[in-house]
Amino acid sequence: MENAEVVAMLGEIADLLELTNENPFKVRAYRRAAQVVDTLPVPISELVRKGELGGLPGVGVHTAERIAQLVESGTCDVLERLRGKVPPGVMELLRVESVGPKTAALVWKGLGVTSVDALEEAALSGRLASLPRMGARRAEAIVSAIARHRSRQGRVPLHRALPYAEDLVARLRAIPGVRQAIAAGSLRRHKETVGDLDLLVSSTDPERVVSAFPKLPGRWMDRELRGRPHLLAGIEVDILSTGALDLDAGVLSELDCVVASVHSRFNMSSEEMTERIVRALRSGLVHVLGHPSGRLIGSRDPYPYDLERVLEVAREEGVALEVNAQPERLDLTDAACRRAKEAGVKLVISSDSHNAQHLDNLRHGVWVARRGWLEAEDVLNTLPLSELRRHFRRSRRVSSSWTSEAPGLSP
Ligand SMILES: [Zn+2]
Repeated sequence: MENAEVVAMLGEIADLLELTNENPFKVRAYRRAAQVVDTLPVPISELVRKGELGGLPGVGVHTAERIAQLVESGTCDVLERLRGKVPPGVMELLRVESVGPKTAALVWKGLGVTSVDALEEAALSGRLASLPRMGARRAEAIVSAIARHRSRQGRVPLHRALPYAEDLVARLRAIPGVRQAIAAGSLRRHKETVGDLDLLVSSTDPERVVSAFPKLPGRWMDRELRGRPHLLAGIEVDILSTGALDLDAGVLSELDCVVASVHSRFNMSSEEMTERIVRALRSGLVHVLGHPSGRLIGSRDPYPYDLERVLEVAREEGVALEVNAQPERLDLTDAACRRAKEAGVKLVISSDSHNAQHLDNLRHGVWVARRGWLEAEDVLNTLPLSELRRHFRRSRRVSSSWTSEAPGLSP
């Protein structure tokens, strides 16, 4: 269990203790423990394992026992007992600005309010204002705080979401076959608050990723973020010499993003290579054509193919072309980027990275794009994830006429 999860639960215990009017010393003990764990530079689970919880300043024996329970079982006796006493809707009241445990307890015990909706009703009907120490002005303030609460529901400050995103990304990267896992969306853009956690994963074994994903921890996210982490699963698939894709349509159509690339048989004629790529683009399964020319700077020339023809088909099929940012690839080239833009084809700048360091490569791709006069609107990376997803869905079309057989092409 993550430190932040323990912090959240200790805070919950303190809130529940306050709501049920228990000893203020106990409340303070749990709040202090939450603070201590929150600033801990090591995983709390490690301290529990080594039996070193007792050494934490400001954490008493009783609280340390609860922390050990939380880490070991995901809950503890005190928390369970208190949760049984307080309706979940009353806890929700605490998320409304200016409603603390005292006010929540007051409206709960005094008016039977057990939800935010009921609190609003009580405020609008005048019943709230009639409570001791409440008054009309305070009730009005609560009504507008409820409106603000609703509008920011499901968003948390960036600094709270970041550790979870980093943890999820690390876990995704540990899944065999994963080539790249990064956070996207509002998290990537470092916005002040984050709603959903958007994660981009590309893998050589997408089914494995998709089946591992639901097992990733989502508990804290469920409570704090409302939104669940979203995964955009992608894969780079080989374009075989026939123009067929090296995975069946059923698997590919399950994925959010399919990058298709030539990785073999570079010595075809220009006509054959063009036909090979065109066939792949016509499949209706491909979102991005990866490193379109196949060159490796200093070691492999680009294979011959008809760029104009490929661009024409890419535009018709809504397929984007990759600007592969690996310094030894830089493929498309700057000049080809410009041709793509003129042809109305979108580009994707990709780091093709197999580890986090390679993400720095991205800037090489950005330089190529700039030299090719691309603007933000030409590059799909600039889209918010929801729009990117929509874009990819639109360009997904499994052609009924497409088969993996490729008449006219020698294997
Ligand atoms: Zn490749």
